Amino acid sequence: MIDFHSHLDLYRTPRTVVQEIMQRKMYVLSVTTTPSAWIGTTALVKHYPRIKTALGLHPELAHERHSELELFDTFIDETDYVGEVGLDGSPAFAQHSEIQKTVLRHILHACTMAGGKIISIHSRRAAEETIGLISEFPDAGIPVLHWYTGGQKELRKAVEMGCWFSVGPAMLRSKRARELIAEIPRSRILTETDGPFATNGNDALWPWDVQQAVVGLSTLWACTPDEANQAIYLNFKKLLSQKSSSP
Ligand code: MN
Repeated sequence: MIDFHSHLDLYRTPRTVVQEIMQRKMYVLSVTTTPSAWIGTTALVKHYPRIKTALGLHPELAHERHSELELFDTFIDETDYVGEVGLDGSPAFAQHSEIQKTVLRHILHACTMAGGKIISIHSRRAAEETIGLISEFPDAGIPVLHWYTGGQKELRKAVEMGCWFSVGPAMLRSKRARELIAEIPRSRILTETDGPFATNGNDALWPWDVQQAVVGLSTLWACTPDEANQAIYLNFKKLLSQKSSSP
């Protein structure tokens, strides 16, 4: 099982969650929301190579934490993974769109200078702007649009640009989102939970709840959950080899 977007450091007992991930032999991308969370979050998993930590600056925090871009630049060479980054145009954050764009441009430029990263990207209510910005930095690495909820037209553009997508249980519960997922080539899809932010009812999703996304995808793809799981694992391996073969 692969959870390609989990906020491990935001669970109440991260070490217990890491132990459970190890027992289940899962692969997890542990995303962060601020550069200052980098050191503590990497320390959680340093003896477990199947969990990788991504360096991030969440768009909902861009206006408060943009001064941490200097720290971002300090740590970027320590990882192949960047996230969570992106833009958020929802009502509470739309007023900060200029600083969000400044932060995302800085990050995509830094990824380019560093030779390219795998980047987990948030684009809620800002799909067009996010995909537009990504297109300005074709050598930033491999963008993985996380929990994409934008339009079909932008989705097609993102697919043409080589973007990947990570989809989770919460996304698969929405009919509109399932219609979007049906437009994405199967070879560009990974699974995620976005826990503990994303929930099932009142309960935060755990990384292993990613199985719910595997089952949802198997229904969409008319195959068994085992076959869907295998397909996602092969995608994951392909993504990593694509990254290591880039210049
Ligand atoms: Mn997230």
